[in-house]
Amino acid sequence: MPHPPHGRFPGQAVVIGAGIGGLTAARVLADHFEQVVLVESGTLPAVAGPREGVPQARHVHGMLARGARQLEALFPGLQTELVAAGAPLFDHGLLASTTVFAGLVPRTHAGVQAHGFSRDLLEWSLRQRVVNHPRVTVRDRSPATGLCWSREARRVVGVRLADGEVLDAEWVVDASGRFSKLPQWLEQAGFPRPAVKVVDAGLAYATMLFDAPGRDFEALQHMNSAPDLPRGAFAIHMEGGRWAVTVFGAGGDHPPTDEQGWREFAKTLGNDDLDALLASATPVEGAGIHGFKRTENRRHEYTAIRQWPRRLVAIGDSVAAFDPVFGQGMTVSVLQAQALGETLARPGDLDTAARRTQRRVAAIVRTPWLMSVSEDLAWHHHRERGTLPLRLRPVLWYKRRLIRLLVTDPEVSRVFLSVYHMVKPPRALVGPRMLAKALFKAPRLGPVTAVTGTDGAR
Ligand SMILES: Cc1cc2nc3c(=O)[nH]c(=O)nc-3n(C[C@H](O)[C@H](O)[C@H](O)COP(=O)(O)OP(=O)(O)OC[C@H]3O[C@@H](n4cnc5c(N)ncnc54)[C@H](O)[C@@H]3O)c2cc1C
Repeated sequence: MPHPPHGRFPGQAVVIGAGIGGLTAARVLADHFEQVVLVESGTLPAVAGPREGVPQARHVHGMLARGARQLEALFPGLQTELVAAGAPLFDHGLLASTTVFAGLVPRTHAGVQAHGFSRDLLEWSLRQRVVNHPRVTVRDRSPATGLCWSREARRVVGVRLADGEVLDAEWVVDASGRFSKLPQWLEQAGFPRPAVKVVDAGLAYATMLFDAPGRDFEALQHMNSAPDLPRGAFAIHMEGGRWAVTVFGAGGDHPPTDEQGWREFAKTLGNDDLDALLASATPVEGAGIHGFKRTENRRHEYTAIRQWPRRLVAIGDSVAAFDPVFGQGMTVSVLQAQALGETLARPGDLDTAARRTQRRVAAIVRTPWLMSVSEDLAWHHHRERGTLPLRLRPVLWYKRRLIRLLVTDPEVSRVFLSVYHMVKPPRALVGPRMLAKALFKAPRLGPVTAVTGTDGAR
């Protein structure tokens, strides 16, 4: 079907899953279809608060600057609204306490903004805008249980819900997250089951929520490093004066989920800023401690399916879910939704647009996947007592030298943060100046002491 002159396709598009990927996809599709229906299996709360469909939302969720910029383009005024709700906006280089294996990173103005909010607040703010969009209908407690196909099963024509209802669809987006059933649905329709790549760092999170007075930093990162330093922590100052504090451990060194064990685990990091924050903080009553273990990098090779179904696109964690330590998942989902909009805006056949979009989705995954997996393969091979693939050794060697430079060279910090936030491409880390610094200026280190312990996370 050619692109209609008024810029909108007739009929309705259906989005499965109301997480960050699904909400942004619904917003984008509303520019191109007469109607958009967003179905969500869980209950969507009327206020910003936890919901069962996204247990990961209990943990520190940082949005990279690139994702924030794109969200603002899709939802103008979002940032101002989050700030008005009390979410601190700050320069990541200046107001984050960052510790790497080489030591504490000196603060420096990085020109990269970070925003401290709970994922609940972000999702709720997006949801309000999507729910109020005149062309979008949001239906919660409506799990999708399968896809409906054209007679020759090459084109998706609808989505089946758990109660048997079928939603006709000119276009379907699967944004149902890490545990998406799409591979099974494709197989049932006669498509080959997509290959899956998994790289598991054996990482688990455990998170507590606190009320705490303001500090001279708005966020804290204590990064781990394979294979000697499995433990780390994140803390973020959020709306309502609250702090979310996540401790984590890779390589199977998992944080406990009882308070005493959790605090002891945090103490082993030897991080003065974290210790001071926790000493001044009061746990939020009834918030408990939440563990999370399903953190493996998992990527479906959908573009390898030669005859990709027409009118179907998968985005977000449904395609590729990342180790959360690098904070990439939400940004990747938003960029993929943006790519979906760009493909649909181009003149062309709706039937071929899905395959084109799916290729762009895969291209967006590539760099974040490499960033995440290059580090995690080190854990993976350490756990399996294997040796690190030869091709990865120079990458990790170089990265470690750059990380050592973070504690002495503010310019390296600034470039590193820009790449981390996806506002500069990774090649910025291998320009002539950075190369020279990495090769000749990286400070020497003393021996690294390993800290490991019990496995307590659920
Ligand atoms: C512990 C942890 C910490 C993380 N921290 C960060 C971070 O700091 N920064 C960051 O950018 N990312 C982080 N992520 C990743 C981030 O949560 C996801 O990448 C992001 O939410 C995008 O996911 P999504 O929209 O694809 O899926 P999700 O957010 O998981 O949403 C999927 C939705 O689909 C619904 N659903 C599932 N099946 C069905 C069905 N059959 N029918 C209808 N609805 C369905 C679910 O209920 C859910 O609402 C973290 C992840 C984890 C696990």
